[in-house]
Amino acid sequence: MSRVGPSGEFEPIAVKRESRVFVLTGAGISAESGVATFRDAGGLWYQHRVEDVATAEGFARDPRLVWRFYSERRKQIGEVKPNPAHLALAELEGFLGDGLFLVTQNVDPLHELAGSKRVLHMHGELLTSRCDTCPRRPFRDDRTYLDDPPVCDECGGTIRPDVIWFGEIPLGLREIADAIEACDLFLPVGSSGSVYPAAGFVAEARERSRPPRTVYVGPERPDNASMFDECRLGPAGRVLPGLFKFLR
Ligand SMILES: [Zn+2]
Repeated sequence: MSRVGPSGEFEPIAVKRESRVFVLTGAGISAESGVATFRDAGGLWYQHRVEDVATAEGFARDPRLVWRFYSERRKQIGEVKPNPAHLALAELEGFLGDGLFLVTQNVDPLHELAGSKRVLHMHGELLTSRCDTCPRRPFRDDRTYLDDPPVCDECGGTIRPDVIWFGEIPLGLREIADAIEACDLFLPVGSSGSVYPAAGFVAEARERSRPPRTVYVGPERPDNASMFDECRLGPAGRVLPGLFKFLR
């Protein structure tokens, strides 16, 4: 179901100033910058079981291990750079402004490093921490904690990474639902179609009385490929630059 233009490349998608574009980015876009995800190694994430390092139960059991794990991820993220796919989405925001709704499943700051200003991190952010006990606001935090886990100045509770772990409710679901309702182009990038609730967004889009155009971009067919009008397969860093034709 791919549409190939005369040059053998895909035809660009025309975007107007008033277009409303919904983009969901997943692990695939970060993987192209060298950020590994837990799917890469059969359920292990940098040699750790997801249950141990990405659940509230794991944190309660061994906060020191969890903090060591996220400290390593924080160190690593200082060494990776956005790729052309991130840059293309920043350029799209430059053209559309609020007409682009960009939501990511990734906790890294690669979209922001590429210049994107409005990014909803539905699974939280690697460089943010929050208190596990009191309702103080999450705060920017790029420190590493290799020994004792940090403690809240305000209540003495344990500080945890501000990431959404398995079994926790993603952030911004209301805004996401509204954006799915309003968009005329629905475009996941490098999102495998297996992690819910994000994998169900395309179904929400298709259930509208006037569904948006749905296009998937990524290196391999997603698990929910049959839900899309088109799948444009290839590395996002190669497909996204030039994907849009800006009608000024
Ligand atoms: Zn606190």
